[in-house]
Amino acid sequence: EYYKEYMQQDLVEQQQIIYEMRDALGCGQFEPWFQPQYNHATGALIGAEVLVRWNKNGTYVPPNEFVPIFERNGFIYEMDKYIWEQACKAVRKWIDMGREPVTISINISRVHLDSDDFIGKLNALIKKYDIPQKYIETEITETVENPRTENAVRELKDNGYVLLMDDFGSGYSSLNTLKSTPFDVIKIDRAFFSEFMLSERGKKIIAHTIAMSKDIGLDMVAEGVETKEQASFLSQCGCDTVQGFLYSKPVPLAEFEKMAYGA
Ligand code: C2E
Ligand code: CA
Ligand code: CA
Repeated sequence: EYYKEYMQQDLVEQQQIIYEMRDALGCGQFEPWFQPQYNHATGALIGAEVLVRWNKNGTYVPPNEFVPIFERNGFIYEMDKYIWEQACKAVRKWIDMGREPVTISINISRVHLDSDDFIGKLNALIKKYDIPQKYIETEITETVENPRTENAVRELKDNGYVLLMDDFGSGYSSLNTLKSTPFDVIKIDRAFFSEFMLSERGKKIIAHTIAMSKDIGLDMVAEGVETKEQASFLSQCGCDTVQGFLYSKPVPLAEFEKMAYGA
């Protein structure tokens, strides 16, 4: 009985989300937040990952509560495009301010990889805001290999985008994906990282993963860095870029601009 009630509650919440999503997009309730990324060696702020927040009259709903629903009902196409546009807009603004923009990485839901022409949409945004493409990087979660996703990833690469493999270590075919797709950067999965940091054996696996990635010419981003101990371990391992609550949580645009440009 309890379970049934729980499921019912869940369904009601999902219906509510589906009912509200279009208006929410229309009135700007989906906000791009920015989580800074730092060069470990120099301490410089070098980029950000843009992460969506749903601002319901001051209450912020985390993406895990709506992104999976949007991935199922297709609204993710519209929501992601909106967030990508906000990223391009921010870069345009920084150029207009006379600043050297930092790179922004956007999340590409795997749902897009099966759709036609999401790359065309992205290209159109870059053109619309007239920004150099290098400032927008693309994060894709490693996924079960299938020819369509592989093609999509290759096409992104052919279109000149820097590709980051998100959540590396969380799936079951990480090494296969590495072997067969043209990623430029790997982002170690937060859960994988924190769990493996707990044992000597796990730490060795992380250290060798970093060394291996460098050896095949990939850059590394460590995500979810929360402690000084984790940070100094990563620096010993030669991990280039770090992102995590130890440095900063995701923040709204204005706050990010203060951090990045002091303006
Ligand atoms: P992700 O792409 O793996 O994003 C990283 C998540 O880790 C973010 O959660 C970020 O806030 C969190 N994080 C970063 N550093 C730390 C840390 O030190 N400690 C802890 N506890 N967490 C940390 P967030 O923003 O809740 O996003 C969750 C997921 O929702 C994302 O995982 C991504 O899969 C999805 N998502 C977020 N924004 C978007 C978007 O605009 N489009 C799409 N398609 N998916 C998005
Ligand atoms: Ca990501
Ligand atoms: Ca991730």
